[in-house]
Amino acid sequence: MIDESTQEPQSASDGAFLALGLDPALVAAVAALGYEEPTDIQREAIPPLIEGKDVLGQAATGTGKTAAFALPMLHRIGAATDDDMRVVRGLVLVPTRELAMQVAEAVHRYGRQLGIRVLPIYGGQAMQQQLRALKRGVDVVVATPGRALDHIRRRTLALEGVKMVVLDEADEMLDMGFAEDLEAILDAVPETRQTALFSATMAAPIRAIAARHLNNPTLVTIAREQTPAGEAPRVREVAFVVQRRHKVAALARVLDMEGPTSAIVFCRTRTEVDELTETLGGRGYRAEALHGGLSQEQRDRVMRRFRDGASELLVATDVAARGLDIEHVSHVVNFDVPSSPDAYIHRVGRTGRAGREGVAITLAEAREHRLLRNIEQVTKRKIAIESVPTVHDLRARRLEQTKTSLEEALAAGGLEPFRVIIESLADEYDIMDIAAAAVKLADSAGEGAADEEEEIPNAAPPRREERPRRDDRSGSSSKGRDRDAAPRRDERPSRGKPGKSRSGGDVTKLYIALGRKAGVRPGDLVGAIANEAGIDSGDIGAIEIADRFSLVEVPDASADEIINALRSTTIRGKRVMARRDRAND
Ligand code: AMP
Repeated sequence: MIDESTQEPQSASDGAFLALGLDPALVAAVAALGYEEPTDIQREAIPPLIEGKDVLGQAATGTGKTAAFALPMLHRIGAATDDDMRVVRGLVLVPTRELAMQVAEAVHRYGRQLGIRVLPIYGGQAMQQQLRALKRGVDVVVATPGRALDHIRRRTLALEGVKMVVLDEADEMLDMGFAEDLEAILDAVPETRQTALFSATMAAPIRAIAARHLNNPTLVTIAREQTPAGEAPRVREVAFVVQRRHKVAALARVLDMEGPTSAIVFCRTRTEVDELTETLGGRGYRAEALHGGLSQEQRDRVMRRFRDGASELLVATDVAARGLDIEHVSHVVNFDVPSSPDAYIHRVGRTGRAGREGVAITLAEAREHRLLRNIEQVTKRKIAIESVPTVHDLRARRLEQTKTSLEEALAAGGLEPFRVIIESLADEYDIMDIAAAAVKLADSAGEGAADEEEEIPNAAPPRREERPRRDDRSGSSSKGRDRDAAPRRDERPSRGKPGKSRSGGDVTKLYIALGRKAGVRPGDLVGAIANEAGIDSGDIGAIEIADRFSLVEVPDASADEIINALRSTTIRGKRVMARRDRAND
């Protein structure tokens, strides 16, 4: 494992963000998040935005676009002032409530040191709550157009102080019928403000809006590097589309199916690298972390262990992997879709070298589907979307491995001491049955992801018709996307309908992916929930513990809070995956 005490200071890679001209407080914020270098869109969009220029950017989700506009916005609007002086100085318009929350959270993280207050405003949320927050004073508003316009008309959102407006996912906003609302909002902000417009496509209506509302904008598109000429590498390129919370489990399954001899798993940030290395370690993989925060000595040690085969997985950031002297790996895994086709090409180039065969695996979330298509266009190669291996696939694969091990044991001989057992059993049992029982035992010894009884749902890419037409209705839209998520129920204990909690509120069952086999007892669950989420233990209802999972009744109103709190804790030394039990739906 890596010795943290000898790590180099974080500043080693801060230079690239500083060089873009960003305020040191913002540079420190991104360093703390584990970003090692700007993505392409950030490198191109941040300098002109800092200079005060308008920007017209073509970039999809997953490219690092949020930071590309949020960092310069925070740089331009500067640190927060006293509350009585606080006015809205930054406005971001986004198509959906989910994106509003996501962008607001990003702005909050980047701007924390500057004391920035950010408010997401979207339809479906209680107006009173938004009014109270607006009254208290905010620096940045991230809003869906319909609700923003509502506030403007009621004069509850004052925009006279706005210095920068961002239209994020402008194509989506137009598709959702927000064109008129956008016009009205842009008319309500000062003409002197700076404007940035980001869109995945540059269709005519987008260009028309840009022509009307942007002032001599700098055009920013992600560099499209062509595949180097020459012999095409023999690389199988596949992607699995899964929900974020299933990513680690999906990765484990894919690794178990593929059985890589050596693999690099790429993550975006140092933090992700460290977390994933730890999680994989906990699941029995020999994984080592490699990122820009390690000293040369630590890097050398990690590399030595990888080359010697002492570790089988290298979990790395792009920066750390760039200078690596690795001949060839059997598998390259993108834990996230890389932020640009260029980054994808670099990563995947680590496998399939010198005419050898390689596999490039990408885990994508549904919303990153467009990035995959973008990569395909640039590489002119197809990335096959495959289904995550099922429990059945894994069991079949394990049985295959058991068979190979048995063949090896037969070839190796030395079975004499065991024949006596067979002979003594043969008096009573059929010899085939004895052999089958022995195979069963050997097979169940190879524990792994196949023992998780839960299927991992493949997440379908977002479909237009599932999106709300207007943000006012967005509250009801999320359920449809989970429709593939029905678990296999046959191995669960039976349960009744959700009842009422002690305080009379609704009760929800949580599914926790740790059970008897992990040594979990009711006290562990009560302790973790009470301590981590601050829930009164008397509010925790019935607990059922099965071999590999547990079900716990908790007050519905606290369920999300508990799920989040459990995610960052361990029970019996194991990371906890918790979610609402689907029987609740
Ligand atoms: P976005 O395209 O804005 O949705 O960002 C996609 C993901 O990339 C988010 O999880 C960001 O936290 C992450 N990210 C953004 N910029 C960087 C960077 N320079 N280095 C590493 N990760 C980043």
